[in-house]
Amino acid sequence: MVRVFYFYTMIDFIIVGNGLAGICFTEIAIQNNKSVYVFDDNSQPSSKIAGGLYNPVVLKRFSEVWKAKEQLEIAFPLYKSMEEKLSFTFDYKIPIYRRLASIEEQNNWFQAADKPNLSAFLSPNLVTDKLQNIVSSFGFGEVLETGYLDIASLIKHYSDYLSKLNLYSSERFDYDKIKFKDDFVEYKDIQAKHIIFAEGFGLHSNPFFSNLPLDGTKGELLIIKAPNLKLEVVVKSNIFIFPIGEDLYKVGATYDWKDKTNNPTEEGKNELVENLKDLITCDFEIIKHFAGVRPTVKDRRPLVGSHHNYKSVHVLNGLGTRGVMLAPYLSTQLFKNIIDNVPLANEINIQRIYKKMNINF
Ligand SMILES: Cc1cc2nc3c(=O)[nH]c(=O)nc-3n(C[C@H](O)[C@H](O)[C@H](O)COP(=O)(O)OP(=O)(O)OC[C@H]3O[C@@H](n4cnc5c(N)ncnc54)[C@H](O)[C@@H]3O)c2cc1C
Repeated sequence: MVRVFYFYTMIDFIIVGNGLAGICFTEIAIQNNKSVYVFDDNSQPSSKIAGGLYNPVVLKRFSEVWKAKEQLEIAFPLYKSMEEKLSFTFDYKIPIYRRLASIEEQNNWFQAADKPNLSAFLSPNLVTDKLQNIVSSFGFGEVLETGYLDIASLIKHYSDYLSKLNLYSSERFDYDKIKFKDDFVEYKDIQAKHIIFAEGFGLHSNPFFSNLPLDGTKGELLIIKAPNLKLEVVVKSNIFIFPIGEDLYKVGATYDWKDKTNNPTEEGKNELVENLKDLITCDFEIIKHFAGVRPTVKDRRPLVGSHHNYKSVHVLNGLGTRGVMLAPYLSTQLFKNIIDNVPLANEINIQRIYKKMNINF
C-alpha cells in the first residue's frame, strides 16, 4: 500500500476506523472543509456484515428509539449526499412489517400508533393481506420512515474514494507510535490536530480508551436464497428477513453476550434457521453465514468524547445495535464539539464514565 507522505503538513483529523462511525465522521469533516487521513486494518466486520436496517421504533415494546427524529433528520441528508458524491445507491427505502402475534399485540399496536411521538412512524391501519409463504394469523403493523443501507458496498466505495485521494491506508494503527505535542499529535509522518478513534469492538486494544465499559454483543446473520418467497418488504418477528435482490434475503440476527469472537457458529445458524422455519413456509438455501460483535455498552448509551488527559484524542463508539441511525448523529455531535465547542449531550459523553471512575477531566 503506497501511503501519501504529509511531512509536517498539519491535517485536521486522523480517523481510525472506516466502519459506519468512521465513515460518517470523515464525511462530515470533509463536507466542512477539514483535512483527513483514515486508517482501517479490516479487523472488525460489524458494519460490513450488519443487517443495515433503520427503524425509528423499538419493535419489542412499541416505543420510540432514543432521539429518533433528530437522528433521522441528520442521517437522511448525509446518506443522500454521499450517494450523490459516490454516484451509487446504498440507502434503500423499504417498509418494515412487524408481524403481530396476538389480539393483545394488535391492541398494543393501535395504542402505540395513537401516541403523539409515534404516530409519524406507525401506520394506524393493520396490514391484513396475506404475504405469500409467510405465516401470519394476526396481520402486520407497518412502520414508516424505514429502510436499509447496503453498508458493505458503502465501505468499499468510500475506501476507494479516499484511496484515490491518497487519504486512506489499509494498515493497523499502532497506538505506541503516537507522539504528543502541545496542541497536536504526530503519528509516523503525519501531524494532526485531532485523532478520532472509531474502532468498534476493536476499542479494547486501544490503551487510551480500553477502560470504557464497551461490552460487545455478538450477532450472526444469514443470506439465503428463496426463489418462491417473492417478499418485497422487511418482515420482523423474532428475526428479520428482507430482500436484497435476485431472490436473496438477509435473515438475522442472533444476540450472544458471552462469545466475543467474529466466528460464525452452528448454534447461531441453527437458531436462525429454526426461527425462519416458523416464519416462512417455502424452501430456502443458505448462501452465506456471517458473525460480528456489535459495540454495545453496559448502560446502553454511546461512548463519545475526548480523553481526560490528551485533549487531541477522541472516541466515537458504542453504536450498539443501531449504528445506521446513530453514526451520523453522533459524528455530528462530536464534530461540533471539537470544532465549535458545542457541549456533548450528557447521555453520550464519556465524562459520565470518568465521573464514576473518579477520573478528573
Ligand atoms: C449481525 C449484526 C447485525 C446488525 N444489524 C444492524 C442493523 O440492521 N441496523 C443497524 O443499525 N445496526 C446493526 N448492527 C450494528 C452495527 O453493525 C454497528 O452498530 C455498527 O456497524 C458499528 O460501527 P462502528 O464503525 O462503530 O464499528 P465497526 O463496524 O466495527 O468499525 C470499526 C472499524 O475500525 C477498524 N479498526 C479497529 N481497530 C483498528 C486499528 N487499530 N487500526 C485500524 N483499523 C482499526 C475495524 O477494522 C473496523 O473496520 C448489526 C451488527 C451485527 C453484528
